[in-house]
Amino acid sequence: MASPVFHGLAGAGLAYAMAGDGSLPLFSWARKNLGLLAAAAGLACLPDADYLPGLWRGALNAVHQQATHSLAWAGAMAAGLWLAGRAWRPTQFVGRALGYILLLATSHLAIDLVTADGSAPYGIPLWAPLSDVRVQAPVALLPAWDKATLSELWSGNNARPLAIELGAGLAFAAGCIWAKRGWTRRKAAL
Ligand SMILES: [Zn+2]
Repeated sequence: MASPVFHGLAGAGLAYAMAGDGSLPLFSWARKNLGLLAAAAGLACLPDADYLPGLWRGALNAVHQQATHSLAWAGAMAAGLWLAGRAWRPTQFVGRALGYILLLATSHLAIDLVTADGSAPYGIPLWAPLSDVRVQAPVALLPAWDKATLSELWSGNNARPLAIELGAGLAFAAGCIWAKRGWTRRKAAL
């Protein structure tokens, strides 16, 4: 399962692709929209909130990779956040925002599916509660990192997988930026 490094960068990149303004200079847009980028990064990490109950037990994986790593939970979370957002700021949380939140939540599941899983239970319960079957892509594109305990998070073993995630995450975000700015240029030329 990927760490918040890759999930967060992927979320911020997707936010730019979905809601960024490709006609503005990149950094001035990002400076003005830091809140949006941070919220998107946080949303893309949200299914990993299931690490938190494990904090009290000293075993981060105690309830990890369970219900929050399913399509049903991603849909329920997106709907709940969107409804709360609509009550708060109805002009910003229009129908399209629901799609954005849903994409950020499901990006987490897609990324975890293609990340190596170093400990049982292997894979994620994508179809829960309809099925208990755990799903994992046949090929792992990202390496596993050590996270069974708090002290493991800082272990030297994590330097390599987290460096790979950082590089891959930056490349993914750069791809989102390139796609959005290219699309904006093409649209302006029409
Ligand atoms: Zn996860």
